[in-house]
Amino acid sequence: MSDIINLLPDSIANQIAAGEVITRPASVVKELVENSIDAGATKIIIVIKQAGRTLIQVTDNGKGMSHTDARMAFERHATSKIKRAEDLYALDTMGFRGEALPSIASVSRVEVFTKQQGEDIGTSIVIEGSEVIKHELTSCEEGTTFLVKNLFFNIPVRRKFLKTETTELKHIIYEFQRLALANPIIEFSLYDDKDIIFETTSGNFKQRIVSIFGKKTKNYSSNLVSIGADTNMVKISGFVGTPQSAMKNATQFFFVNGRFMRHPYFNKAVNIAYENMLQSDTQPIYFINLQVPTDTIDVNVHPTKTEIKFEDERDIFMVLMACVRESLGKFNIVPSLEFDQQNTTEIPPYRQGHTTQHPKIEIDTTYNPFANNSFRSHRSTAPRNWEALYKQNRDSLPASNTISKPNTSLNDTEPIEQKSFLIHKNRYIVTSVKSGLMIVDRQKAMERIAYEKIIVQMESEHKPTQKILFPKEIELMADEAITFIEIQDDLKAMGFEFELSDNNTYQITGIPPMLLSIPDTSKLLHDIIAYLSDSDNIEKEVYKKIAIQTAKNYASCSSQPLNEEETEQLLASLFQCNSPKITPSGARIISIIDDNDIWRGDR
Ligand code: ADP
Ligand code: MG
Repeated sequence: MSDIINLLPDSIANQIAAGEVITRPASVVKELVENSIDAGATKIIIVIKQAGRTLIQVTDNGKGMSHTDARMAFERHATSKIKRAEDLYALDTMGFRGEALPSIASVSRVEVFTKQQGEDIGTSIVIEGSEVIKHELTSCEEGTTFLVKNLFFNIPVRRKFLKTETTELKHIIYEFQRLALANPIIEFSLYDDKDIIFETTSGNFKQRIVSIFGKKTKNYSSNLVSIGADTNMVKISGFVGTPQSAMKNATQFFFVNGRFMRHPYFNKAVNIAYENMLQSDTQPIYFINLQVPTDTIDVNVHPTKTEIKFEDERDIFMVLMACVRESLGKFNIVPSLEFDQQNTTEIPPYRQGHTTQHPKIEIDTTYNPFANNSFRSHRSTAPRNWEALYKQNRDSLPASNTISKPNTSLNDTEPIEQKSFLIHKNRYIVTSVKSGLMIVDRQKAMERIAYEKIIVQMESEHKPTQKILFPKEIELMADEAITFIEIQDDLKAMGFEFELSDNNTYQITGIPPMLLSIPDTSKLLHDIIAYLSDSDNIEKEVYKKIAIQTAKNYASCSSQPLNEEETEQLLASLFQCNSPKITPSGARIISIIDDNDIWRGDR
């Protein structure tokens, strides 16, 4: 038999490597910008068109390349950054594999203009699908400009699998944020064609945080606490958010030796430092730099290098936890004795020398959700008799929390004559039914009721809107603004009215009447955007997701005590819902404790 093994031509090998390194336009941005950083640039300008499908252009004022190097750079394993195996353990550059440029050039058309500092003449190169089309001397600026055009032009499947332009643009923005935060000294700008997405000036870490997240975080300056530790294992610097600035989907960044990384284990260290200080469902904001000796980490773990192994992981964990805790401690944030975990309230930090600001929650105390029918179901009449509704619905109710009696007769589940409610901790409505004790989680019930009402509103022709006298301003971050544009029609369908007033800033001029009781509309919109960005398939069932998050915020704002009549009305509305037993996000609303399980004292 003849031999059958071939060596793959470089162009194919490069395309295979590109499959790993260059997965989307954002990866090209990352690789090119990292090269500019390694070249000592102090100014980097990025321009993209159509979220990088047609053009990704990176211009730097770094050291440039010689005529020969510019060509060599596109060979496989061509790098100026390591020479010997030992260099791998003393890396102070972002790149070292010599893989990026040949990979990019194998799946696009690349044009380069480069000139070394102090030289008279520069070089221009054009490579398309690994084939050198031009390599000549030219006059150009000092530094280097890369233009990557028609990414994946020769791999139709890849091109087809690119997500929508908005999704790809968001990935580019995330990549940009990481690079810009890790290098505050470097002046960075990002343009979408001619539109400015970010423009930053050289500064310190805090100034960079504010210039990247400034809009959303005008109050970052007062909400960020600086942290610091200096041991021979690790130097830690950066900022963490105060507990009350914690939020769903909080901005969290770890950098190690100037490189962005993900580190679930260290993330845990930060979270532990906040123990008992956060409301459930929220995460602390943080921007943390770790500096470690280069020979104690292994950046070789992953080709795109966001996961990094540390030699002294456990010790760093402890140092990190302690230094975050210490900084929070300086703010005298004392966790209160919490008897009721469910209703944990935010604890404002007390700053020495400052007067304590009590959290201001603008709640319309006169608002009664039951007064204006807003809670009545959309069905024709809303019977006040919840028992009748309960009976209709009982078959769909969940079984007992514990052991359910399989042979419960129908009769047993009927409500008993005398109705009275116990409201436990202003949250759980406890009442007797034939088979036992029924406990309804009031907040979750509100969530279900609000959700169904919102959906009806969104699907109906008539869009009720309550104009607001003094429009509220909402400022969005670049990536949020993209999501906002995607969902604006759904928000309008719900009854929101708004107009663009400035770059990424909207004036809210009208809101759905039922949301008048929500104290913070802008928080609601941020939460909706966060919830959508969090979900796997943003484009799917957007309006339902919007309704889910809105219902959640709505329910969490309704905590004024209920009287008997209101409780009854709430239960009536609940049992009129299509699915009274679970919240739109799947949590249980009702629990029934079987009579047989109530008394266990003698067992
Ligand atoms: P790596 O960064 O791993 O060395 P790349 O394929 O990204 O590999 O780049 C190959 C080489 O090209 C680099 O080692 C560097 O010498 C040179 N190079 C790439 N981009 C630039 C740039 N913007 N300025 C100067 N040199 C560059
Ligand atoms: Mg590189």
